[in-house]
Amino acid sequence: SEKLHSDIEIALSAKMKPIKEIANSIGIKEDELDQYGKYKAKINSTVMKRLEHEQDGNLILVTSINPTKAGEGKSTVTVGLGDALQKLGHRTIIALREPSLGPVMGLKGGAAGGGYSQVLPMDEINLHFTGDIHAITTANNALAAFIDNHIHQGNELGIDPRRIVWKRSIDMNDRVLRNITVGLGGPSNGVPREDGFDITVASEIMAVLCLADGLQDIKKRLSKMVIGYTWGQRPVTVADLGVEGALTLILKEAMKPNLVQTIAHTPAFVHGGPFANIAHGCNSVAATKTALKLADYVVTEAGFGADLGAEKFLHIKARGAGISPKAVVIVATVRALKMHGGALKEELTREDLSALKTGFENVKKHAETISAFGLPFIIALNRFADDSPLELEAFGKLCLDSGISYALTEVWEKGGGGGIELAEGILKLIEDNNRSFEPLYDLSDSLEVKIVKVAKTVYGASDVDFTPAARQQMKKFEQEGWGSLPVCIAKTQYSLSDNPVLLGRPTGFKLTVRELKPKIGAGFIVALTGDIMTMPGLPKSPAALRMDVDESENAVGLF
Ligand code: ADP
Repeated sequence: SEKLHSDIEIALSAKMKPIKEIANSIGIKEDELDQYGKYKAKINSTVMKRLEHEQDGNLILVTSINPTKAGEGKSTVTVGLGDALQKLGHRTIIALREPSLGPVMGLKGGAAGGGYSQVLPMDEINLHFTGDIHAITTANNALAAFIDNHIHQGNELGIDPRRIVWKRSIDMNDRVLRNITVGLGGPSNGVPREDGFDITVASEIMAVLCLADGLQDIKKRLSKMVIGYTWGQRPVTVADLGVEGALTLILKEAMKPNLVQTIAHTPAFVHGGPFANIAHGCNSVAATKTALKLADYVVTEAGFGADLGAEKFLHIKARGAGISPKAVVIVATVRALKMHGGALKEELTREDLSALKTGFENVKKHAETISAFGLPFIIALNRFADDSPLELEAFGKLCLDSGISYALTEVWEKGGGGGIELAEGILKLIEDNNRSFEPLYDLSDSLEVKIVKVAKTVYGASDVDFTPAARQQMKKFEQEGWGSLPVCIAKTQYSLSDNPVLLGRPTGFKLTVRELKPKIGAGFIVALTGDIMTMPGLPKSPAALRMDVDESENAVGLF
């Protein structure tokens, strides 16, 4: 059951077509394309203007069960499903997020898919790509510099240096930067204060770029971001500092969707990549909407399980952008279900039908959640070489007994050819569905009601405990006029609850909301549960130790 070729070996042996040809295949004209080398390009906003009155294609959302640390193959299935639809003769575009260098150097695979279902050039997508994330880092840190300079130059706005919430950022897992002191060295070096770094994908600017509808909307959103509070505890925004124009300028190119291709030459938009716990975790609205104008089927993914990614995709991204998926794919794996059923991490390759059955409850919960949104779904069982025939059979029976439809998916091993059954299942669901999703809460609900509705319906919590601090913040935020924003609940991805070790389908638990954070530019209120990391650390043996460049200048060891 050994993996014969690594992801990078497969990626490097694939032959790409010039990106102009890929663009041409979906009707993008040459002057609407900014090429970044032969195989990457940015798409100008003139495409959207030209196609404004065209009908949208069908959106397919790929989500998953609560994942394990290795990931359950959501990106892989997203790419494979896109290739399968293309193979069946449908005009298809895949819409993915951009990988962050932190996790790439750390432990998880990239976000470019895997096996024979990958987007190319895989190494560049995983490294600097077209520089979007660097541009966001720069905009983020420019704002930090403007804040400290404002204080140094006399602090006309009366910003309380102890209450600045805007942090610096870098696209790396670097725990020593979580808490730092800046401005040391005397009066000519600024005003000393405590500061810290977030990983760039957790920056509010990443969420702004992903949710904005065009450059002017980016500017409007940036101007509303809260950077801290005055001595009198009034919020200070980017507009107060007057730097939204400069920040928008820094992001001018980064906001254009990037076009690449899969191993099978299916067009893929890879654009934007916010964290799915602290932010909404989906690719950009600009990319998704442009793809919908150009293709009959658009396959996109949302981060982590349906409890985090799909909920936020629907309540935040889709509601805000006025789009709706026609059907949903929930990715599951036998090994993760065995873990949800109590099997030990070291024994996941061993056949265990009883753990599989217990763990299947996790699938059922996510299936119920997608049904609660009024959307049809199909389970994609992402097959691993270690899955035993009896386990595959048992999974099929569990689905049948629960009235859930599923497709055995082998896109990692076979590319699009391994996803035909899944593609046919999805096409059938779309044909029968002409409804949009129904939100589980109204924007006019109070912040408390919104959180409680998500906790009960999506997580299966019995109730929500708000700390006194969180209650006070909810009151204050509603007084500030922020009460009608959607909520973005920051929670562990490993469990339906806020406790990462409660696997399977926990019941009778209370969700604890500790703190709220206003992300007014992004357009949501973050509600923090548990310990949510906005700056991850590297593991003892980071993936970086296995990376290299060979003598022909090819990447080595990128998974
Ligand atoms: P997710 O999007 O859920 O985080 P990915 O699609 O990025 O997961 O996959 C994570 C890693 O697992 C990748 O390195 C990928 O190559 C590998 N992988 C995915 N599916 C399979 C499979 N069926 N068999 C073996 N490896 C797989």
